[in-house]
Amino acid sequence: MATFIIMLGPPGAGKGTQAKILAESLELVHVSTGELFRALKSQDTDFAREVLAIMARGELVPDDVTVRMVKERIAKPDCENGAIFDGFPRTIAQADALAGMLAADFSDEIDVVLQIQVTEDEIVRRITGRAVESKAAGNPVREDDTPEGARKRYQVYLESTEPLIDYYQERDKIVEVDGMRAIEDITPDLCDEIRARVGSK
Ligand code: AMP
Repeated sequence: MATFIIMLGPPGAGKGTQAKILAESLELVHVSTGELFRALKSQDTDFAREVLAIMARGELVPDDVTVRMVKERIAKPDCENGAIFDGFPRTIAQADALAGMLAADFSDEIDVVLQIQVTEDEIVRRITGRAVESKAAGNPVREDDTPEGARKRYQVYLESTEPLIDYYQERDKIVEVDGMRAIEDITPDLCDEIRARVGSK
């Protein structure tokens, strides 16, 4: 049986950071739709330009495009043991599509949804801090990591993604985690929750 975990929470909640750590320690593949889309920067196609323009505006890439991208990614052999989804699903339609894919291709379902809770002010502070740090380190700065970009993405989160909390609560998948703490304090909690849910499989 494979293990499938979702990191749910607003942009800047620390989903990516935690997903990377967990993926390494659990030997699962980290599937970040944001990273898959950012990789399109190297492509000179209308499709790539369209997706990147949507991202720069802080809006969501259409569900069909996003779902296709994930379907192709999890079909690769390295996902045989499972994956940690970071930034996906972001809409109810994506969550339904994911359930369909896991049932059809893996005869499986999501094990646990780790819902990382962080306040809006903290999100804007972290996202703008991330931009300053990247710049200082000489790394590329994400176009959407501005105070306006952060607030816009938070609004999109409230409208389209937050309803997933109820969706997964109804399916008894949600575990709430306090994200207002240091990275190294959050990781052990996440590991405990995963062990409690997955250990019995
Ligand atoms: P992230 O790196 O997860 O913050 O995603 C960066 C941007 O990529 C988002 O603001 C969206 O424009 C796009 N994106 C990432 N994941 C999704 C998704 N599941 N559905 C739609 N758009 C997405």
